Amino acid sequence: MLLTFFPGFRLVLIIEEIFQGVKKMEVSISQMVSETVRKIEGLISDISGLQSAYVEHICSKCEAPCCTRVHYLFSEKDILYSRLSGRKHGWRREAFTKKGCWFLGPTGCFLAPQSRPFICHSYICPDLKAEIRRNSPDLLADLEAKFKLISMLRSQMWAEYLDVF
Ligand code: SF4
Ligand code: SF4
Repeated sequence: MLLTFFPGFRLVLIIEEIFQGVKKMEVSISQMVSETVRKIEGLISDISGLQSAYVEHICSKCEAPCCTRVHYLFSEKDILYSRLSGRKHGWRREAFTKKGCWFLGPTGCFLAPQSRPFICHSYICPDLKAEIRRNSPDLLADLEAKFKLISMLRSQMWAEYLDVF
């Protein structure tokens, strides 16, 4: 009855209800982004662990390491992933002028696996591929399937992020 007499008041209630609805939706989307980031973290740990023995064996003997032939490989999704997973790169000013990747130190990459661009995990050069194939014939297919899943989750993370912010 009161609302009949004060239509303006009713409008305020409706707007308030809409705001509350949007807020709830933002919280649930934000939880979805966190869940997606957690899934990516798990998969990156997996692919990194699965390749590590072969990388150590082959890359330590490589005459033209790929890390010395690139500079900066971070894409927008890599940066977003770093931000959402709470990781930092640890920039060093002198790195910008040196040859090769800015994150390449005297003993290899100084970024933790979860902080590296995704391409650093998914690029498997022919020598590394041959080594993996020789020792574990099914592993390449397993890795490829995981790379695909991570790519899909990274796109999902991007879309969910855009919905919240
Ligand atoms: S991935 Fe291939 S090119 Fe890169 S360091 Fe290892 S062996 Fe060399
Ligand atoms: S970020 Fe690390 S792994 Fe990737 S290219 Fe640079 S030094 Fe190599």
